Amino acid sequence: MRDHLETAPVWDAVRQKEQCPFCALRSMIEKQSVERFLGGAVMEPEIRLRTNAAGFCSAHHRMLMAQKDYQGYALMMDTRLKEVIAGAAPSLRQAGQGGLLGRKAPEKAAKRLRELTSRCLVCESMAEHVRAYRDTFFRLYREDGAFRAAFAEGHGLCLFDLPDALEEAGKRLNGDTLKAFLQAASDTSLAALNTAREDLSALCSSFHVGSEHKNNPRCHGALERAVNLLRGTTFETEKTP
Ligand SMILES: [Zn+2]
Ligand SMILES: [Zn+2]
Repeated sequence: MRDHLETAPVWDAVRQKEQCPFCALRSMIEKQSVERFLGGAVMEPEIRLRTNAAGFCSAHHRMLMAQKDYQGYALMMDTRLKEVIAGAAPSLRQAGQGGLLGRKAPEKAAKRLRELTSRCLVCESMAEHVRAYRDTFFRLYREDGAFRAAFAEGHGLCLFDLPDALEEAGKRLNGDTLKAFLQAASDTSLAALNTAREDLSALCSSFHVGSEHKNNPRCHGALERAVNLLRGTTFETEKTP
């Protein structure tokens, strides 16, 4: 997959100035992935085998439901539930017989149930694609001066993505290119954090009676932006007015 990933989404993520570029990529992949698992893919046997076997986490179930494709979603969950029941029933029957088959049966059943429900196809797809986009990011950073300049002028990284980026940079860049990356990543990320803190302070002040910040546009989405910078995109934000 790595060689086929296009550079355009990485360029777009670095050029936009609203959020961490890796969060921008992750959100794009997440939306595409949720739409793909519903839509036409519901009927594709290969995709059905994967959704039956793995399922989705709570957050992505909420996103799937929000697509409002109730028929497709119901069909997908119908076969998923059948597969989970088939996988769980033997261990549950053993656990249900209690002492007859030894004390290990409930433990085995608990382990089996966790195996059946611990995966999420959207999360797995996002992790795989973000890794591949990170490869593309560092290749562009090594090879393209215009990309380096855009990154230095772009939005800083959130504290969820920054640690990985710092570690990966040490493995993939060297000399002046590494230095330039570390400086740009540190400067832009600290600037983003400080801006978020100032916006959040304005929001806190705006709650006071007669505050000068009542209509301050910086308060708009300040809480969401602060959380997103600390944790990676957690809340959707509208564009800054
Ligand atoms: Zn991020
Ligand atoms: Zn998930």
